[in-house]
Amino acid sequence: MKMLIGFEVHQQLNTDRKMYCDSPTNYQDAPPNTNVCPICTGMPGSKPMPPNERAVNAAIEIALLFGCKVITNEPIYIQRKHYDYPDLPSGYQRTSLPVGVNGELQGVRIREVHMEEDPGQYDPNLGTVDYNRSGVPLVEIVTEPDMHSPEEARKFLRQLVRVLEYSGKVRPEAGGAMRTDTNISLEGGGRVEVKNINSVKGAYRAIKFEIIRQKSKLERGESVTRETRAFLESQKITVSMRVKELEEDYRYIPDPDIFPLIIDKARVEAIRASMVEPPYLREQRLVKQYGIDSTAASVIVSERGLVDLFEAVAKEIDPKLAATWFRTKLKKVLNYMKLRAADVRFTPEHIVGLLQMVDNCEITPEQGELVLRQLVKHPSDPRKILQELGLEGINPEELRAAINGVVRANPDAVRDYQAGKEEALHFLAGKVMKLTHGRADARKIIELLRAKIMEK
Ligand SMILES: [Zn+2]
Repeated sequence: MKMLIGFEVHQQLNTDRKMYCDSPTNYQDAPPNTNVCPICTGMPGSKPMPPNERAVNAAIEIALLFGCKVITNEPIYIQRKHYDYPDLPSGYQRTSLPVGVNGELQGVRIREVHMEEDPGQYDPNLGTVDYNRSGVPLVEIVTEPDMHSPEEARKFLRQLVRVLEYSGKVRPEAGGAMRTDTNISLEGGGRVEVKNINSVKGAYRAIKFEIIRQKSKLERGESVTRETRAFLESQKITVSMRVKELEEDYRYIPDPDIFPLIIDKARVEAIRASMVEPPYLREQRLVKQYGIDSTAASVIVSERGLVDLFEAVAKEIDPKLAATWFRTKLKKVLNYMKLRAADVRFTPEHIVGLLQMVDNCEITPEQGELVLRQLVKHPSDPRKILQELGLEGINPEELRAAINGVVRANPDAVRDYQAGKEEALHFLAGKVMKLTHGRADARKIIELLRAKIMEK
């Protein structure tokens, strides 16, 4: 059955002041209603300040990251969108006309990027409202309904969140602060919008639920009406909210208190020149520049903190070795501890130090992983950690001496190997292992033995 899925994604911009006033944007830690002023609480007679420049620049950068055309040299009106709810003291939410249009991400068309302001937070159980969040700048990204399955939609949304996170222009609690509406329509049914989705996983579940619900209605010969539904995260279902408002229900009007925004070309070009590299381009560059495979590149690029660290490390050590460690061991340790690379205080030097020990065969990869685990918990010099863990590495000189000794003492085995008997090499490796008390990596011993015999 043919289906069309689209998104409207909201994310808070990372500014320290609100959109139309000077109140701080901290609404998480501040006591209720302390970061407020007459403007963001909609007091009669209060007038908004001009739009926060940083927020506008952030929206422009985000539009550029999605390949949008930024609207320049023509007025971008700030509109009032009217509705009544306790979290909206003025009775309207300010929402701009598009800052950018006609972008694209992963084959999905981005219809527009515009700015909005967040409402306050109403608690229907207590009947209280906290206006600290009221007026926090938001960016909204609207896609065309270009996705055709829940999986495709999830993949797209993940990538979109990643691009936003990369931009550094949205609040760092990224995934958590993302809010999205999604619209789903099946062939022969009306377009249903689902609100209240707060995560990529939630979006995936909501879409899956909706498809099943709509499909069974259509199969029974019932009609799927155009409506707005809410996603109930805890129950993983959607419930009807209201029949979809028509545009005129919001009574949009340009805000008479705010001059329309006019963005000139020079401003856009300055932002373009200094903006971050989007993750999909960075992934391609990693493959080319460091010669790593695209699977590793994709894992490494999945997190800005991880890829920044990788690039710092790859400058100092074999990028392929670094890529393998990042993709497998480091990612595993971080996942296990539920950490992101950005949360960990280790430095590129720490990782380089560790990988050098592995590369020089001073420690085995297994020992390296134990050091890495400790490094994530308590960053310090990896050599010191090695001692603290009571793990004794082997120094390259000692290993070389052991190999030379074993080759000299076992001419028969060496001859056997030269005659093509592979198992002779394992016999020799066993001798080296015994001599070094199992402290050296078997694979590395084989490699060194082979090299040693070749030079004879
Ligand atoms: Zn304020």
